Amino acid sequence: LPVVALVGRPNVGKSTVFNRLVGERISIVEDLPGVTRDRIYATGKWLGRDYRLIDTGGIEMTDEPMMTQIRYQADIAMEEADVIVFMVNSQEGLTTEDEAIASYLHRTKKPVVLAVNKADNPEQRQTVYDFYALGLGDPIPVSGAHGTGFGDLLDEIVAHFPPEAEQVDDSQLIKFSFIGRPNVGKSSLVNALLEEKRVIVSNIEGTTREAVDTRFVDESGQEFTMIDTAGIRRRGKVYEKTEKYSVMRSLSAIERSDIVCVVLDAETGIREQDKHVAGYALESGKGIIILVNKWDTVENKEKVFDEFTQDIRSEFRFLSFAPILFVSAKTHQRLERLPDLLKEIHANQNRRIQSSTLNNVISDAVAMNPTPTDKGRRLKIYYATQVAVGPPTFVVFVNDVELMHFSYERYLENQLRQAFHFDGTPLKIIPRERQ
Ligand code: GDP
Repeated sequence: LPVVALVGRPNVGKSTVFNRLVGERISIVEDLPGVTRDRIYATGKWLGRDYRLIDTGGIEMTDEPMMTQIRYQADIAMEEADVIVFMVNSQEGLTTEDEAIASYLHRTKKPVVLAVNKADNPEQRQTVYDFYALGLGDPIPVSGAHGTGFGDLLDEIVAHFPPEAEQVDDSQLIKFSFIGRPNVGKSSLVNALLEEKRVIVSNIEGTTREAVDTRFVDESGQEFTMIDTAGIRRRGKVYEKTEKYSVMRSLSAIERSDIVCVVLDAETGIREQDKHVAGYALESGKGIIILVNKWDTVENKEKVFDEFTQDIRSEFRFLSFAPILFVSAKTHQRLERLPDLLKEIHANQNRRIQSSTLNNVISDAVAMNPTPTDKGRRLKIYYATQVAVGPPTFVVFVNDVELMHFSYERYLENQLRQAFHFDGTPLKIIPRERQ
């Protein structure tokens, strides 16, 4: 998706504008256990085009002076975004900080749209002309408080989007990425796989961003694309190690992947942040592998193996379908297993189950564990059919969707998993009423 980044000094009203631009589309996952959603990132839609919006102001770096922070934010916008929205405040007029940001933004070739917030009435709208002095084109007046001017602003933003990519059939290709909090070893894993040079086919230049994906084939001829997660091979910028930035990069990597490898650190154990990352992966419906990296640092491997496995299974209950692989980017231990595991999961994600087979499994499941009742009524399952792959999605026709309790749905899911090898992929079950 095209990426739109909001920049501007504090208090110009970025978060109000952010909310106006994405409406209710922020957050779907609030109710998943252990998942909080960052307000810095959301998707929006205008004129039929979906886009991703980031509020760079939400990527805090502690202990940095304000101007340094704003510089980082502008940097992030210049690297990540297809369109940069620079926000100023009409009520305060043009400030030296605005001028500093503008001169910084002059370096980028990316389109910059100048939004003047708090233009709540005609009088304040007059002041927008002052902002021509920034040399960034026509200022667009908006009012976050009143919700005015956003149509014009969005028109201008969307006008700068790259043309919509042609749909290419890449269903044979397996796209994967490494996601995780800072320092778990994502870039080391990318580099470790890149060191197997014989297999690399090509680096694929990103379209507008600087992402460089790597394509390789394994012995069987299967093609893989390793998604560049963190601008991973250029390094060392302060903000690259901040949590929110890493979450943002994870989200864009997840979006572009078929399968995501959630990387944990054997040295530090599981942290709260790991759960956020895993929650985003789960929400996406993509295939998931849990990689425990830095396995070389573990002394008592047998004992730790059992403990770590148990910890993962109890901390990430909702990821019980994801296989766990203990690896080391340093020694390359077990990394050679990754391609086969990716292939297996890809096959599972794309498996189609014949309706007759599916319905046999479901009637056996119902025979073993009768459907729930509520107020004297019993759930009746008429039949089920698979409606999609990636993730495999099943519509189950029932007498009353209210009677399909979460626990029974879970039970059916487990029966389907046992019957049809769905390791590494989430499944979706959609109950639907049929009279
Ligand atoms: P990222 O922030 O997730 O990309 O993490 P990096 O790849 O930058 O790694 C963070 C630190 O962990 C670096 O000092 C790496 O050298 C170290 N590291 C990464 N993988 C391994 C590993 O498998 N074993 C050991 N011992 N250290 C590792």
